[in-house]
Amino acid sequence: MKLQGVELRRITMPLVAPFRTSFGTEHERDVLLLRAVTDGAEGWGECVAMAEPLYSSEYADAAADVLRRFLLPALSRHQESARRPGGPGGIAASDVGHALAPIKGHRMSKAALEMAVLDAELRTLGRSFAGELGAVVDRVPSGVSVGIHDTIPALLDAVDGYLSDGYQRIKLKIEPGWDVEPVRAVRERFGDGVLLQVDANTAYTLGDARHLARLDPFDLLLIEQPLEEEDVLGHAELARRIQTPVCLDESIVSAQTAAAAITLGACSIINIKPGRVGGYLEARRIHDLAVAHGVAVWCGGMLETGLGRAANAALAALPGFTLPGDISGSDRFYRTDITEPFVLDDGHIAVPAGPGLGVAPLPDLLDKFTTSTEWVSVG
Ligand SMILES: [Mg+2]
Repeated sequence: MKLQGVELRRITMPLVAPFRTSFGTEHERDVLLLRAVTDGAEGWGECVAMAEPLYSSEYADAAADVLRRFLLPALSRHQESARRPGGPGGIAASDVGHALAPIKGHRMSKAALEMAVLDAELRTLGRSFAGELGAVVDRVPSGVSVGIHDTIPALLDAVDGYLSDGYQRIKLKIEPGWDVEPVRAVRERFGDGVLLQVDANTAYTLGDARHLARLDPFDLLLIEQPLEEEDVLGHAELARRIQTPVCLDESIVSAQTAAAAITLGACSIINIKPGRVGGYLEARRIHDLAVAHGVAVWCGGMLETGLGRAANAALAALPGFTLPGDISGSDRFYRTDITEPFVLDDGHIAVPAGPGLGVAPLPDLLDKFTTSTEWVSVG
């Protein structure tokens, strides 16, 4: 396959309601999309970096910059060498990670580029993301991430609405001052049968271990990323001091860090986000590694549009994804998605079966949300 160039497209989508986590409040989602143009089909990639570097060091403007200045030129050079006499003649999605490896970090940008090339490749071949990744089901249970609310009654109203919608699992965002009481209130109101977990997004320290142990009686599925991203040993120690299973999100940036965290006892569950780990192919490697170690995985979310949501649903259909993920209906975050909306059906999201992502942006809606476009040629 010959990659001719990539369009970098920025869109801004308003959220149905502000989404508050321990690192900030989002009112709209500023997304960088990639459209890969090849001599076969076109492919779409979605960069999950947010507008500001609060979830991780990556942010959307930097993602566009590193793609333009370093990643696309690196892919261009790789493609040139592949087209020399005796070379493979073009570029394959499985080459992208290797071609971009000399550039350090920037995993969300690399993931978006690999996703776009993979989508183009699979559309050209008439194969789906789900089939390519190894999906074993055609629908996945849908969980929902519930932001920090101003009051407990407001939180209970929100959870009530999501349970009525059919969501299979509730995740509460927590931070110091908003942890034990909201969990207790949700348990008291909705009972022990609700699958419930919490996500701290790095808001605590190991010194909070005794306080976090107060969550033990509530039979949570897991506590996600209580400590700083780099504090893997702290998580291992915390896991010994609390009964709630520790799940890592921000700390797991590759299969290598996943292997280290598992070996150190820092987590018994992993939230896999393809953007955070450099792409869907690395995400699959982490899945395989976790399965080999008996560690459960689930697919997190980064307020994706229908494009990223489609790819996440395909990934979550792999056999090791034994816990419900954060793959919610499009209307959880957006009144209008840029693709046909994902709709909850009996608490599940259908895994797209068509070629590539199986969904594509609807041109009018895409244009409506677009704030800028830029064409970068790949020689
Ligand atoms: Mg998280």
